[in-house]
Amino acid sequence: MSVMESTPVRHDCPFCQIVDGRLPATRIFESETVLAFEDIHPVAPVHVLVIPRAHISDPSALDETTAPLMGEMFLVARRVAEQKGIAASGYRLVMNTGRDGGQSVFHMHLHVLGGRMMAWPPG
Ligand code: 5GP
Ligand code: ZN
Repeated sequence: MSVMESTPVRHDCPFCQIVDGRLPATRIFESETVLAFEDIHPVAPVHVLVIPRAHISDPSALDETTAPLMGEMFLVARRVAEQKGIAASGYRLVMNTGRDGGQSVFHMHLHVLGGRMMAWPPG
């Protein structure tokens, strides 16, 4: 069974709606399994979200079949950073996970943040 078959689109999920085109988004990069698009409320000069096309709620829902998607997401994040001109200056990759992690959309996503100095620790 492929990743896409095992994790069907959720019609009530905004990121699944972006994947299937029902919700508009400014797409930066697309592959067979991963999509990158501009965050609707950017918190940095560069703020792109990288998601698997398949609906996976968060990293705790990964299994042996879907875990390789995480590596693909990081490769796409690198590509996004190069394309946006922040690869040399540096950037932050964030995956908010669950309620206390600050996750608000429960379709796994990697934030690519850059274009300014990031603070630490995060709030
Ligand atoms: P989280 O808080 O779950 O880590 O991040 C969710 C992110 O998704 C937020 O930065 C939010 O601005 C972004 N977001 C939520 N809904 C939409 C949407 O419909 N379109 C886009 N492009 N971004 C969204
Ligand atoms: Zn989804």
